[in-house]
Amino acid sequence: MAAALSDAHRRFLQALLARGVVEAAEAERLRRLCCQRHPAPGASDALDDFLAALNAQLQPLSMEIRRGSAEDSGGAYVALVNLAETDLTKMASDFSENELELFKKTLDLILMSGNGFASSTEILNLADQLKPKKMKKMEVEQVLQQLVQKKWLCEKEGEYTLHIRSILELEQYIFRHYPESARKCHICHSLSIQSQVCEDCGIVLHCSCLSKYFQTQPEPRCPHCKQFWPHRIPDLHPPSQLPSSARRESRKASRTGFRHQQ
Ligand SMILES: [Zn+2]
Ligand SMILES: [Zn+2]
Repeated sequence: MAAALSDAHRRFLQALLARGVVEAAEAERLRRLCCQRHPAPGASDALDDFLAALNAQLQPLSMEIRRGSAEDSGGAYVALVNLAETDLTKMASDFSENELELFKKTLDLILMSGNGFASSTEILNLADQLKPKKMKKMEVEQVLQQLVQKKWLCEKEGEYTLHIRSILELEQYIFRHYPESARKCHICHSLSIQSQVCEDCGIVLHCSCLSKYFQTQPEPRCPHCKQFWPHRIPDLHPPSQLPSSARRESRKASRTGFRHQQ
C-alpha cells in the first residue's frame, strides 16, 4: 500500500486545487514551499517523485496529477485531472450555467475548425442559439473573458483555442464525444488541437512536437511516410535547449536551408 500523505503533500494538493493548472516551474516552487513548511527528512527533492507519491494516493479516487505541454509554446504545465467523470457539468465544477453552455459551443467550433481555432466573430454569432437563455453579444464577450481567466480557453488576436488545462482535463471526454474530429499527435500520442497534418499520409503533429522533432532531422520529412513536410515549421525550441548532439544536427539542418525560418 502507498505511504500516507505527508502534510507537505496535502498542502501542495490544496494549492493545486485552488489554481486548477500551474506551470511546471510554479509547481516546483509550490513543492519547495510546502516541503520547507512541513519538512520530511530524507524525502526526495525531485518534483516527479513528489507527484508520484501524491498520485499513488489519488489513484483510488480516480484522480491524477498530469504533466502536459502547451500546444503553442511547448511550455510545461501540471494539472489535477478527474479520470472518472464523463459529464462535462461535473468535471468542470467551476463553470457557471452560461460558461458551460458557451464553452460547449466553442468546443464544437474549435474541434470542427480543422486548425484548432474559433474566431470571436464565430463565437459571438452563437449568442442567439444559447440555451436555456439567449445571451447578448456583450454577455458572450464577458463569459469568454471568464473562460480565459479560468484557463479553459486561451485567446490570441481574436482567435480562441483550448488552454492546456482543458486538454489535460477533457482529453478522454473529447475523444469520446468527438470521435470524428479529435486527433492524436503521431509523436506524443496525446490529443492534438493546434496541429499540422501530413498532406500525404494524414498523420497529425503538435506544433511543439514537430518543432522539436525537425530540429534533430537533416531534412523536414514526415516521421511516418517520409514525404517532404510542406508546412512552415515553428521555431519553438531554440537549439541551446537541446542536447549537444541534437544541436549539431539542428545547425546542419539550418545550413542546408531546409528549415523554414519565421
Ligand atoms: Zn505531440
Ligand atoms: Zn506523412
